[in-house]
Amino acid sequence: MGKEDWKTVNVKKRLLDEVERIQRTDEAKKAGITNVAQFVDLALREKLEKFERRRFEHINMHEDHVKILDNKLERAGRIVSVYFRDTKAWCEYCDEHMCVHIQYAWEIPDVREILSARKLAPPPSRVF
Ligand SMILES: [Zn+2]
Repeated sequence: MGKEDWKTVNVKKRLLDEVERIQRTDEAKKAGITNVAQFVDLALREKLEKFERRRFEHINMHEDHVKILDNKLERAGRIVSVYFRDTKAWCEYCDEHMCVHIQYAWEIPDVREILSARKLAPPPSRVF
């Protein structure tokens, strides 16, 4: 990664001291964490995943589409339908063949199983 791929944030010294202490433990080493940046990266990813999970809810699965509640849309959230016809997925809300709703649909185990059986290609993994 080049320098332009990184950004700097300020963290309270006391909090970072605690991270440095934890990072040196056997438990952290077992988890493959060898430096503070790795620890922070992991912690942020976990938090992001938690937030993303809360954003979407799987409502139900129909013959050719899946309904997802997107809590970020409109005031009280909006139900979005993702259609799986032929070999491409299509989101009625975004009018796209690739969007966060399609990515989320693929993350639902039951949906994933059906789509794989239909030989649809999974989307690239989510980029945070
Ligand atoms: Zn969408």
